[in-house]
Amino acid sequence: MKLSELHPKKNPAYSPNLYRWMRKHGAITREWIEMYKSDDGRTYLGTLEADPVVKEFCGTVIGSILTEGGRAEDYCHMGLTAKNLTKVEGFWEEYLRIGRCALDKDHYIYGDERWDETGDTRVCKWCGRVEMRERYTFTEQRERWVYDAEVQS
Ligand SMILES: [Zn+2]
Repeated sequence: MKLSELHPKKNPAYSPNLYRWMRKHGAITREWIEMYKSDDGRTYLGTLEADPVVKEFCGTVIGSILTEGGRAEDYCHMGLTAKNLTKVEGFWEEYLRIGRCALDKDHYIYGDERWDETGDTRVCKWCGRVEMRERYTFTEQRERWVYDAEVQS
């Protein structure tokens, strides 16, 4: 697969920042870049070095790629190896299908460009996820110090 196939003009669900990062770091084909999850719960895109001695991971956390694009630093992480990284199988197939939702499964980021809103329902334009508006009342207990003149006498 060529980098041009990830261009945001191909599909509005594709991330302009991911495209810029892939282009800047010479990722001509997606086969070189894979998604990995670390034991501490972070998600990265990059390459696990095949060198049998070093075997360290080179790449960047997803959040940095999505917010900084081509400016996101791409470096080798001394402590990240095959021992504490798990490859996410099928990432690129999912990305090609639903775009940025494959990177942001909880739908935390991207506002209006992502949602089609009708009344109290909204549908993600990229993956089809449906969310309903929930209305609730929030009560919060607070405390403060008050002066009581009667106690003072
Ligand atoms: Zn979605």
